[in-house]
Amino acid sequence: MIHSHHDIVIVGSGIGGLSTFLYLTESDAFKAGELSLCLIAKSTLSTTNTDWAQGGIAAVHAIGDDVEKHIEDTMVAGADVNDKQVVRKVVEAAPALLNDLIRWGTCFDKNAANDYDLAQEGGHSEARIWHVEDQTGHAIQVALMQSAIVSDNAKILENTLLVNVIKDVNGLFHLHLFDVTNACFFEITTSKLVLATGGAGMLYAKTTNQHVATGDGIFFAQKLGATIENLSYVQFHPTGLFHDGNISFLVTEALRGAGAVLRNQQGIAFMHQYDKRLELAPRDIVSRSIITEMKKQGDACVWLDATHLSSEVIDHHFPAIKSQCKALLNIDIAKELIPVVPVQHYSCGGIKVDVFGETNVSGLFAIGEVASTGLHGANRLASNSLLEAIAFAKFATEKLLDTKHEVNLKAPVHFKLECFDIDRNQVQNLISQHAGIIKNTKGLQQALAALQFIKSNAVAVSFDPYQFASGVLLDVGILLIEDALRQDQNRGVFYNEDLVNDLVP
Ligand SMILES: Cc1cc2nc3c(=O)[nH]c(=O)nc-3n(C[C@H](O)[C@H](O)[C@H](O)COP(=O)(O)OP(=O)(O)OC[C@H]3O[C@@H](n4cnc5c(N)ncnc54)[C@H](O)[C@@H]3O)c2cc1C
Repeated sequence: MIHSHHDIVIVGSGIGGLSTFLYLTESDAFKAGELSLCLIAKSTLSTTNTDWAQGGIAAVHAIGDDVEKHIEDTMVAGADVNDKQVVRKVVEAAPALLNDLIRWGTCFDKNAANDYDLAQEGGHSEARIWHVEDQTGHAIQVALMQSAIVSDNAKILENTLLVNVIKDVNGLFHLHLFDVTNACFFEITTSKLVLATGGAGMLYAKTTNQHVATGDGIFFAQKLGATIENLSYVQFHPTGLFHDGNISFLVTEALRGAGAVLRNQQGIAFMHQYDKRLELAPRDIVSRSIITEMKKQGDACVWLDATHLSSEVIDHHFPAIKSQCKALLNIDIAKELIPVVPVQHYSCGGIKVDVFGETNVSGLFAIGEVASTGLHGANRLASNSLLEAIAFAKFATEKLLDTKHEVNLKAPVHFKLECFDIDRNQVQNLISQHAGIIKNTKGLQQALAALQFIKSNAVAVSFDPYQFASGVLLDVGILLIEDALRQDQNRGVFYNEDLVNDLVP
């Protein structure tokens, strides 16, 4: 088994992982040759949720906007469950972080006056969303990948799957890795481990997430003894493109920001019945409103109407949505309504970290969607997640660089690799049915019992990356349902109809 050591290993190549890598390579310690880094990604570098982000990244910039308004919007969306100190720290840091993204090569759209062209999204009281057409995440992903220069002291390994982590008695992390291309295992040790493994959308049958979003970071962190919190704070995006009973594409919030209206099957606009902010109410409210309206009418979807927007707005700001709707459904969004339904989108909870992104396990960090930082509270404000990832990459760099462990105190470890024959569809269907937008206690209990039954009856099989990920999903799914059963209040995205119904609708 090949064995190497790095001072810091980062797992994940989205905005969380790559921006951590870049900040570290800009440090004096790295430039002086005193720091070795390694970043790994289980698929290609660009296979990330980051690459699929559409709308943009939030930061105060326009005249009339200010930090207090961004803080207030974030707290309102998060139902005040947010950690206000963290919200302030991130929001205040945002403009400088945007400069880092620009410095690394992201060309955000500008307007005719040559200033940044800021969009407004649901829950934001001002236009503060920096974007690159409707493909902001892709532009950021490409810029970060191009800026991440590899060297002897900074390695990047694609198609490398983390399958196990053990912390030895001397505090070193031993990473058991599977080289997907050559189908072989190897080990890396590190003093500091950064989990930037993204979300867990694959827990659900219908999600906007990439296939790599299987909750691996939660799985490993929990085994290492880290605190996991609020996993059941799952955000559903109100407008997944509904296509042959499936969700094939996300229709960005910015389209509603530009004036698109939600209509039921009768063509009647309905958001005014649910919230005075109409289509720009926070996502949890829009999602629950759509589900309630679909139930009322007995419909399989609702419709998003952008036909009154000018072709200039559509062509300039939403070219990807226009071409996807044409390609998948033969719909011209300038003339026809778009069928949409709410779809799993974002994990607000995760591995609990401090203001430097460190967990309660010394040396273990979590950055990006996998982390629970306190920024989002019980619901993420749109376009705050790319921001959170780069903010904590920056904050963590300080602590990642503060001490250096001795490397010659490795204690031997024995990896136990477990892989089971698990029906992933069954797991996803149970979670989708019982831990969706509107939950009830009996359903959650039934799902928990069924998932535990699957776990205790699972048959061991030889290692296979897909089956391994299905086992991870089963374990993380159990954690999510247990978390949902512990929640005693409906707040933000969390809604159990058996709890006191103090939420609208
Ligand atoms: C369709 C879509 C649109 C979105 N739009 C926006 C938006 O407009 N604005 C916004 O702020 N947010 C948006 N989001 C959310 C945002 O994109 C994500 O929260 C963010 O990109 C997550 O970044 P990350 O670095 O944490 O994870 P990701 O970008 O998902 O990267 C995860 C990385 O971890 C690696 N990994 C995972 N497990 C392992 C393992 N076991 N071994 C090795 N590697 C592993 C993966 O290979 C990948 O490289 C959107 C999300 C989606 C899906």
